[in-house]
Amino acid sequence: MLEELVKLPQNAIEVRMEEGDYIGEDGLVHCGKCKGKKQIRLPASEFTGGKGVIVRCICQCGMEERKRRKELDEQKEAMIRIDRMKSSSLIDDKFREVRLKSFQEDQDNQKVYALAQKYVEQFEKMYKKRQGILLWGMVGTGKSFTAACIANELIDRGIPVIMTSFVKILQNIQGKPEQEKNLMNWMNDARLLVIDDLGTERNTDYALEKVYNIIDSRYRAGKPLILTTNMTVKEMQENVDIRYKRIYDRIFEMCFPVRVPGRSWREKEAARRFDEMKKLMEE
Ligand SMILES: [Zn+2]
Repeated sequence: MLEELVKLPQNAIEVRMEEGDYIGEDGLVHCGKCKGKKQIRLPASEFTGGKGVIVRCICQCGMEERKRRKELDEQKEAMIRIDRMKSSSLIDDKFREVRLKSFQEDQDNQKVYALAQKYVEQFEKMYKKRQGILLWGMVGTGKSFTAACIANELIDRGIPVIMTSFVKILQNIQGKPEQEKNLMNWMNDARLLVIDDLGTERNTDYALEKVYNIIDSRYRAGKPLILTTNMTVKEMQENVDIRYKRIYDRIFEMCFPVRVPGRSWREKEAARRFDEMKKLMEE
């Protein structure tokens, strides 16, 4: 038993001498950079077989180097994780790179911008409260853009988000019950689910049943949902068709309605061009 204890592994004894390292007055190897010991002497005891032993240890800068390397590895892993999240987020290519800083703030959408920023900053709180958002307004006012900004900002922070549309989900699950189950689980695993363009899916019983199931299963998972739609809240609230009513009732339970106001971005762009042209003609 004692025999085994004294047999220190070879790498506990050998010290790799680096440039500048020196043997100190104590007869031990010291680091040339931080002057710290790279060896320590273990006093003679029954555990060292009755003899004094010199073993390797780590100097201060060695410890720091080790820590730095560990942090680098962790950062690299986090980047890989985020890249993987990005590619599995289902976000449309055209929205892949949008961020809050690419938001063209104007008097129409200031409030929406502020809300998106707040939602991102306070996501943990929103998540705990299961607080979602319903972005509604005319076509082309930047609802999908806003939703994608929120999604991308959160993914950048390492939070798993999936952004898709009912049209895409329905295309993927029609007639494939196994796929449907997988997709549902996968969507519900995401911390935030963003579904774009509510109301553009087909209005068949089948489609509406699936839409209800997706929203209801998110509700049951107790996780937040962000939706965008071209419908108005009034239209949704006044719909008497029971197939829609139960969908919208769930949505209003989960999502805070936010109107995305203003002229469409296309109109704004046209106006900007007109002004430019006018200036040019006046010159
Ligand atoms: Zn050192």
